[in-house]
Parts: sequence; structure tokens; C-alpha cells
Amino acid sequence: MMGAREACGVIGAYSGKDADVVHSLLKGLEALQHRGQESWGIAVNGKPVFKKMGLAFNWYNYAAELTGYRGNSGIGHVRYSTKGRSNLDNAQPVQIGKEFSIAHNGTIVNAEDVARAVEIEHRGKCGTDTKAAGYRLLHFLREENDWFWAFERLAKELIGAYCFVVLNRRGEVYAVRDPRGYRPLCLGWVERSRTYIAASESCALTAIGAEFVRDIEPGEMVRLGGPKKGLESFRYAPRAASAHCSFEYTYFAHPASRIDGVSVYEARKRFGKVLAKKRRMKGNVVIPVPDSARPAALGYALESGIPMEEGLMKDRYRRKGSIRSFIEPRQGGREEVVKRIIPIRETIKGRDVIVIDDSIVRGTSSRIIVDSLKKEGAKEVRMAVTFPPIQYPCYMGVDFPSREELLAHQVADGESDIGRISKKVGRAIGVEEFQYNDVEGLSQAIGLPEDNLCFACITGDYSKLGISPRFKSRKEMKG
Ligand code: SF4
Repeated sequence: MMGAREACGVIGAYSGKDADVVHSLLKGLEALQHRGQESWGIAVNGKPVFKKMGLAFNWYNYAAELTGYRGNSGIGHVRYSTKGRSNLDNAQPVQIGKEFSIAHNGTIVNAEDVARAVEIEHRGKCGTDTKAAGYRLLHFLREENDWFWAFERLAKELIGAYCFVVLNRRGEVYAVRDPRGYRPLCLGWVERSRTYIAASESCALTAIGAEFVRDIEPGEMVRLGGPKKGLESFRYAPRAASAHCSFEYTYFAHPASRIDGVSVYEARKRFGKVLAKKRRMKGNVVIPVPDSARPAALGYALESGIPMEEGLMKDRYRRKGSIRSFIEPRQGGREEVVKRIIPIRETIKGRDVIVIDDSIVRGTSSRIIVDSLKKEGAKEVRMAVTFPPIQYPCYMGVDFPSREELLAHQVADGESDIGRISKKVGRAIGVEEFQYNDVEGLSQAIGLPEDNLCFACITGDYSKLGISPRFKSRKEMKG
């Protein structure tokens, strides 16, 4: 998939043995890099927030500056912007007054309203949805110095998707997941240093050497290192039907992660199996679009009996070779990343190729890939895509382009039949045959009931979020 952008990965840590958590935060951010490659930052008490543009693994270049950053609790963030400009000022964590720092994964839809509610106290400080939510939280804390009450009040006002991690000046870490659980958030534990970790994905826990404890539930707030010096859990919002983002399983999350009880890798393999069961396309070889479609291609090959081979390789040794194209803020940059994918002639030449991809956003990248396969001598090219047609924007943390830029919306022209949309998309990207997954196949492969998943970008139904949006232009969406 090329062309979508998603907001962020978060991490928080607290050691009950007074061990320094900074290294764990940095290693965790590296493992969450696939969720945001625009900027990164950490916050520990007694120091200004440390944040830089670029990739988190560059922290090695700042080792000298980071030597003063020590503490038994802290939070961290990797960013890709859905609201607010991409600059260092908007990088996270964000310091809110002297009271706390905050980092956020998701999108607050009504950020303007939230900002308006604090504009007299904090004029000009609410340039992103995270800052608006942070200053509103500060307002409630100043009304009553009770974190649980303040979050409860804040949650009643927020519309959108959010996982927050907060570090207050007492060194307590709060990890909060929105009542629908759009974005993932989980808990881990390192016995040796008696450290609790809250992270967007379990792959960060693995990278740190932490055990996975459990997912943080939708509507749950966890406090690490409070008066009880351990973990406390509070339910700040009543239970509601979940709306876990189905796109996390298809594309965003790391395949090594488990989200809400589901292995992302296994789900992706099942996507491929479901597609092959629905329709076995003609071909001699199955190839994935690297990297996220690889498990689905394997599943497709296993189910269809058609061998899988590597036919497209990312050139990891060049600048931008290893990054995900969705992270590129400009279309030109995204195309550059796709052009760094090199076809392997020996796999492709003279063969009928079935390409497996995870999703199609604008379609530009798919066209580039199909062209390159044909140039390398593929006889025929067919494509199967594990995520159904994306026809609507996301207001819950994924920065899809505006509706008019989405290929499926452009070609569907009011059409709702998925077979007919598939034919039109296939024609648009120049393949012999094209197949989309559908919502039923998607939830079946994820292994969660349809009622517990979000499909709003496919169906246009935002009722779980409680909005009926007026679809905006690209400029309006960016805010
Ligand atoms: S609209 Fe799509 S991308 Fe956004 S949360 Fe729902 S499923 Fe995920």
C-alpha cells in the first residue's frame, strides 16, 4: 500500500526499582518506527522534552545530548502528522504548562471546539489536536487536582480516536485508550527492573525485552507509579462496542505485534487465504508488494497452490530504501520510494504474475509497480488486494487523502458492487484482472466480529464515532 499516513506511536515506562527507563523508551520508539517516521521525542522529569525531526534510530547521533536524560519514568513518541504541520514545534511529547507532558496517537475530530474552550487561558498554544486536548486536560486538572476526574471530563468532550501517554511532574505515567479502542495500546512488564511499559504495539515490548501483559481496554486509564508505586487501572468511560481499526491489521501495525488478541502476522496470512478462496486467479507465480503484503501473499500461495516468490525488492541500501512510502508527506516523495522497489526479472519474465498488495489509496504506486512488472517481461499481471475499496476519509488517526483523491471513489462513480468496482480499478491501474477483499472477508480473516471493528473508510458509516461528516478538501482536512 502506498499513499496513506497515520499518526504516531506512543510509549510510556515506569520502573518500581528506580531503574533508568530512557534506553527502553528509545528502543521502543525504534520498534514503533513504522507508525511514524517524521519526528520523535521523549520526556523525562526535570528536563525539557527532547525531540528531533527524522527517524528515531538517529538517537545514537544525539547520545551526548541525551546523557543528562535519566529517570525511572518517562514517555516517548514517533510522529506522523494528521493534524498540524510537520515541524519540530508540533513534534511530541508536548509540554503542557509545568504540570505534565503528553503524547498522542490518533486524531481528535473536534480539536477546534476543544481549543476554543481554552482559548482565553491558552491563546495561540493549541496548534495541534494533541495540544488542544492537553491544555483542556490542564484546565480540568486546575479545577480539581484529580487525574481520573480530569480524564473523565476530557473524554466527555473529545470526539475521535486517541491513545494518550502522559508524564506528570510527580513522575506518574498515565496511559489512556479511547472508549472505542480505535488505536492499539498494550501493557508490558520487565521483571528484572520491575518496569511497566505501555506501548502502541507489542512489537515495542519485544524490542525492549518486556513480557506482554495485556491490551489496555477501550475506555481504560492505567496509572503507572502512582501512590501505590505499581499499576492501577481505572475505567473512565462506560463500555461501548469496540471499533478497532481494521486497517491496523492490514497495513499499519507491525506483523510481529498482537493487537486485541489477534496476531497481525496470522491475520495477514488469512487475508491471502480468504482472497484465494473467493477467487483463484490465473497465474504461475504469486508475488507480494513489499513489505506489509508479504504474509498475505504467502497465505494466497498456500491456499491456491501457486508458488510464492519474491518479485519486487525494496532497495534498502539507498536513502529512503527502508522507509514506508506512506510516511512521505508529498506525492513526489512517495513515488520516489515506490520507484526504489526493484523488480526481479528472473521471477517475472514470461510469467503470469499475481501481485498481492494490502490496499490501494490513490493508485499511483500500483500503476508504477504494474508498469515496472510489464517492462520486466511479465506476460500478464493480476492483482488481489487484502483491504476493500477505500472510498471515504478516516477521522480516527489515518491520514488518507481527501475523498476526491481516492482511486476507488474516483472510479466507482456511485457504484457499490465490489466486483464492478474491482473491474474499474483494475482497468485504471492496467492489470488483466483485479480483486478486492470485502468487509466480511476482512473481519473473518482478522477473527474479530464485524461489530467490534471499524470499516468507516470503506462504508462511510461513522456512527460509532458519532459524526456525519461533510467531506472536506485536502487543504481543509490537513487543518
Ligand atoms: S476509517 Fe478506516 S483507517 Fe480509519 S479507523 Fe476506521 S478502519 Fe481504520
